[in-house]
Formats: sequence, C-alpha cells, structure tokens
Amino acid sequence: MKAIHQSIKFDKKLLDKDALRVINVINKAGFKAYLVGGCVRDLLLNLKPKDFDIATNAKPEQVHKLFKRSRLIGRRFRLVHVVFSARKFIEVATFRSGKVQTAKNGVVIRDNCYGNIEDDVVRRDFNINALYYDIKTQEIIDYVGGLEDIKAKEMHIIGNPGIRFEQDPVRMIRAIRFQTKLEFQLSYEIKSAIFEQASLLGNISTVRLYEECIKLFHNEYGFEVYERLEKYGLLKYLFKQTHKNEFIKKALLNTSDRIKKNQSVTPVFLFAVFLWRAYNERFIALKKKQSCSSLAMKQASEEVIINQIKQVSLPRWLSAIIKDIWLMQSRLEKMQPKKVKVLLSNPRFRMAYDFLLLRSMSINPELVEAAKFWTKAQQ
Ligand code: ATP
Ligand code: MG
Repeated sequence: MKAIHQSIKFDKKLLDKDALRVINVINKAGFKAYLVGGCVRDLLLNLKPKDFDIATNAKPEQVHKLFKRSRLIGRRFRLVHVVFSARKFIEVATFRSGKVQTAKNGVVIRDNCYGNIEDDVVRRDFNINALYYDIKTQEIIDYVGGLEDIKAKEMHIIGNPGIRFEQDPVRMIRAIRFQTKLEFQLSYEIKSAIFEQASLLGNISTVRLYEECIKLFHNEYGFEVYERLEKYGLLKYLFKQTHKNEFIKKALLNTSDRIKKNQSVTPVFLFAVFLWRAYNERFIALKKKQSCSSLAMKQASEEVIINQIKQVSLPRWLSAIIKDIWLMQSRLEKMQPKKVKVLLSNPRFRMAYDFLLLRSMSINPELVEAAKFWTKAQQ
C-alpha cells in the first residue's frame, strides 16, 4: 500500500498538550505513535476535536508500562487509557489488523489481532477517519484518499460497503452522524448499502445502541440526524414506536440550543419525548377498557418502555424518570391550586414542567394556559 505524505502545520495551540506528551513518551521508548481518526479529520476541517486518539505499534502492555497513570481497558480489543485527571484521559490503541472473526450473521466477534499501520488503516470505517498525523514531521499520512475526501466534502467507506456494514452495522448510523456533523455527501455506495442493509441494526447489542443514540442526538445537529435516519430507513430499528412530529422537532432543536449555550442535557428528556405519542396512544386505548386512569397510565408507560428496550436499552434509573415525567403531565395539565406545593417540591417537577412547556409550544397549543400557570407558580 502506498501512502501520501502531506506536510501540514497545525497551530500548536489546537493540539492537545497531553496527547503530544503521550506521543513523545512512546516515541522516546522507540515506538511509532500518531494522532489518528476524528481529531485529525476535525483539525483539517477547522473544527475543535472532541478527543485526541493515538495509534501506535507498541503493544498495550508496553504502553501501559510507560505511564504510571494508565490503565488497560477493553474486552473486544485492548486499549490503554493514559489518565490525566478524573475526567481526562488519552486513548492509545495498538495498530490492529482488519482480519476479523465473524459470526454466521457477519457480525464481528473478535478483531484483536495486532498489525502494522497498513492493517490499521483498513480496519477503520471511512476514508476521512483513517488519517494519521505525525507530530514530529508534521505530516499527514493518508493511505486511502481521506485528504481528497475532506477536500471534496465526501465520505467513502474503506472496502466494500456491504461487507463493512455487515461486519458492524453501527457504521451505518456513524455514516449519518458524520455526514450531518460535517455537512458531507455520502458516496452512492454507502447510501445504497444503507438502504439495503438497514435491518442489520436489529442484531446490535441494545446497550451499544443506547450509547450510540446519545451520540446521535446530544449535539448541535440532532434534528437533522433524526430526519436523515428516517429518510434512510434506519430510525425504525432504533425507535419503532416513534414517528416524527412537531414535538420531537422542537425538543431536538431545544437540545441543540442548550448544547450551544453549554447548558446541561439529559437523555431522559430525549427518550421521554420520542416515546410520548406511543405512550399517549396506548394510554387512551387502555383507558377505554378500564376506568382507573392512573392504572392505565402505569400500564401504558410500562408497555411502551418494554417495547423500546427490545431495540435500545435504557438504564433502569432512566426509564423510571421517564415514567414519572409522563405520569406528571396529567397532574400539571389540571392546574389545581391545592396541588401546587406538592408538585413544586417533586424532584421531577422541573423536567415535567419543561416537557409540558415544549408540548404547549408544539403539539398541544391548548396547554399554553397550563404552562403559564406553572411558570407563575414557580415565581
Ligand atoms: P467523534 O469522536 O468526533 O465522534 P471519531 O471519528 O473520533 O469521531 P470515534 O468513535 O471516537 O469517532 O472513533 C475513533 C476512530 O476509530 C474513528 O475515527 C475510526 O477511525 C475508528 N472507528 C470507530 N468506530 C469504528 C467502527 N465501528 N468501525 C471502524 N472504525 C471505527
Ligand atoms: Mg473520537
């Protein structure tokens, strides 16, 4: 394999000092080490990298020995985290080969064979994610045309899309996420492979999909991601009970807004919004059959959550809060002065109120009065 070496001098201020330190230590011990993946891609696009990952020819145990404050992690493949603080670590991955052991359905079960940089390149997902940066020579090393793709604002998958998506169907939603974040075009091959293979997402661990969902929607462009997932037929493999409406749109735009302003966001809200209509419809159906509203609400909320976790798992604490938010809606809708004190002191009040507010601004304009009532009540 032939690589293009392109010299590019990034502003030192844009590079993470800890990552540079880690690379220097590994280099001094006689190994190669590069910045790789998302950080190189983002630097080339003048975006602020989320994290700085390192790829090296040193084995995990060798890296671990070089750093007192480091830990070996990972089951499917071993990685080293060099720890700098309670919240900050740099991830160091040993070059590994794309030779994979797959199950009958094509899903990767083991890919922990170490290799050289050329092996490491081809096991990555997209050309734009397979660039290496050598901080000593200040050169980008490009084996797959990633530089060209970045220039053209295009995404190509490394290898055969059908096979690569079969090995790891999560790459399909990664394609949508990067396309949206970067405002790139997907290659024709990627698009058609997604249309054909969307259903493979059904084979992925529900816990992994939960983590992916947070990455999909907790960002500045969550609503665009939502629309694209729907367009490509992927959404139904994550949220089969969810159909687009103004409430979802409003909530996703609101989440993005909060992130832009550095305000906190919670996955609780995301899932509560996505599943609200399904819950409501189920509640109405159950209410017809039984007279007790609160029982119908409980049952509806449980059924909708049970259906959801067949696709995307939700931690228990999270589904508990979702149910609370839903069940509180009917109490907030009623505006009973006698209940103000109790409801205001409910630890879920704030989220339930935000939820009501967004409903009133989207699908339930008749709730504007109630929203005002609770806004006042807090003052
Ligand atoms: P960001 O962190 O901004 O979301 P990223 O490109 O850094 O984007 P990560 O999930 O942090 O994404 O992964 C780091 C790198 O590991 C990727 O750039 C890619 O080269 C490789 N990678 C991650 N997930 C996969 C996957 N499912 N299949 C193949 N390669 C992957
Ligand atoms: Mg990353």
